Amino acid sequence: MSLLEVKDLTTYYKILRGYVRAVEGVTFNVKKREALGLAGESGCGKTTIALSLLRILPSNGMIAEGEIVLDGQSILKLNEDKMRKNVRWKKISLVFQGAMNAMNPVHQVGEQITESIRIHEPHVSKKEAHERAEKLFELVGIEPSRLSNYPFEFSGGMRQRAMIAMAIACNPQLLIADEPGTALDVIVQAQVMKLLSQLKDKLNMSMIMITHDLSLIADTCEKTAIMYAGHIVEFGDTVSVFKENLHPYTNGLISAFPSIEGEQMQIISIPGSPPDLLDPPSGCRFHPRCQYAMEICRKERPPLLDVGKDHFVACHLVKTEEEKR
Ligand code: SF4
Repeated sequence: MSLLEVKDLTTYYKILRGYVRAVEGVTFNVKKREALGLAGESGCGKTTIALSLLRILPSNGMIAEGEIVLDGQSILKLNEDKMRKNVRWKKISLVFQGAMNAMNPVHQVGEQITESIRIHEPHVSKKEAHERAEKLFELVGIEPSRLSNYPFEFSGGMRQRAMIAMAIACNPQLLIADEPGTALDVIVQAQVMKLLSQLKDKLNMSMIMITHDLSLIADTCEKTAIMYAGHIVEFGDTVSVFKENLHPYTNGLISAFPSIEGEQMQIISIPGSPPDLLDPPSGCRFHPRCQYAMEICRKERPPLLDVGKDHFVACHLVKTEEEKR
């Protein structure tokens, strides 16, 4: 059963030179207790999706079209007050890029966590909030006595764990982790990913993991969505997307990723660079970089087609194959 249904989500940013079409016609779902990995190059719209789901876009951002339904409730129909009181942190929570540097350096870590609990749940007493913070620290693997420390007394990994504790403090149904390993070394990054995955299972949450690191998605997510220039081009079961991908961009992205397993392979990069989303290419946005581009690719955007087994692909090649049958 789906916890989150996103249909035709379209988000733009207004700048002096026009509208940046950051996310356009994006459709996907996340089931209960499922982890979805959202992958793609920097600037492809991954973070914009996260900000749209929480409705915390910067002032020049706007959701122009689409529907976001969480647990049967349409998020876009709620007023700001309901969004703040009932949805953010309580139903959807976010661990954002560089979150570990977001703590106030002059306040104890515990104080910041208890305050955040009491902002979202004002009826909770200081004592109760402190007890909850202790339990949260145990959950994320930090000794509760460290609540009295200041952020500078924590390592980067511990600060990120503390931010995760803060994000799950109100038992959200959906946790969005946006590049949670940024600025951490690979070993600590792997520990943080493992922690997120364990918490998802322990607390029965769903999770959206946003990253450009495909190996993290392969390790932690049941589903994968590949984004290119504001569009989802392939979506499905992680094993199918990695092993039986049908979109040339997915294939290029996976071929461009180094692997330490199997035979030695040459890393093949995708030629060209992502388009300017102020004036994206017509039709399939990948066509200027695609070796299989056909006339139709320049004219028509390929729809996200169901190719079976919960696997969806937006490519005219796939449509052509279907029509051949
Ligand atoms: Fe390439 Fe055309 Fe498929 Fe786009 S739709 S990925 S240009 S073949």
